[in-house]
Amino acid sequence: MAKYGMAFDYKLCINCHACEVACKEENGILLGADKHRLWIGESEPVGDFYNLARDKGGFLQHQCQQCENAPCLKACPNDAIYRDENGIIQLYESKCDLSLNCMDACPYDARYIDEKKHITDKCIFCSDTRLSRGETTTACQITCPAKVRIFGDLDDENSEISKTLSQREYFTLKPEKNTEPKLFYLV
Ligand code: SF4
Ligand code: SF4
Ligand code: SF4
Repeated sequence: MAKYGMAFDYKLCINCHACEVACKEENGILLGADKHRLWIGESEPVGDFYNLARDKGGFLQHQCQQCENAPCLKACPNDAIYRDENGIIQLYESKCDLSLNCMDACPYDARYIDEKKHITDKCIFCSDTRLSRGETTTACQITCPAKVRIFGDLDDENSEISKTLSQREYFTLKPEKNTEPKLFYLV
């Protein structure tokens, strides 16, 4: 058992999209611009209207935030969404009827429709591919040439992610939503 999370040294990102390609290849994600478990967006502009500037780096990595307080899980009328023993928000595929309540409830737009399986899909930290084979890295992490991504067990004080979060400042996305994300952006 673990409590998996991911930290992003987001200012190092060069927007090469290698992570997105690796995720699709590893996890068999459908092709198409709107089918993705992760995407890269521009960081929020900082400064006032007349003096707008991008934070250094300019790119933010987005994917399921693996919320401790997950709106998608609460919104599903079929109890199809659950948290597994590693803290990853998962789906009983046979229970999903594409009511899309979870997509509407997610504040991070993390889910998309998998038209082949007729389910909503999202990042599950490569749990049914790499982690199930005993690997300890995710496809997006291992592929990133800029070493933006740090994946690991938040409950292990000796993991790289725990050490990094104890030493660096960070923020989470949309804290006003009280979702308690397990994705952290290093400043
Ligand atoms: S980011 Fe969205 S899909 Fe992921 S756990 Fe939170 S509410 Fe659910
Ligand atoms: S952790 Fe795995 S499933 Fe999630 S975005 Fe990265 S490569 Fe895709
Ligand atoms: S692979 Fe790394 S550097 Fe490239 S877009 Fe993804 S996070 Fe950014």
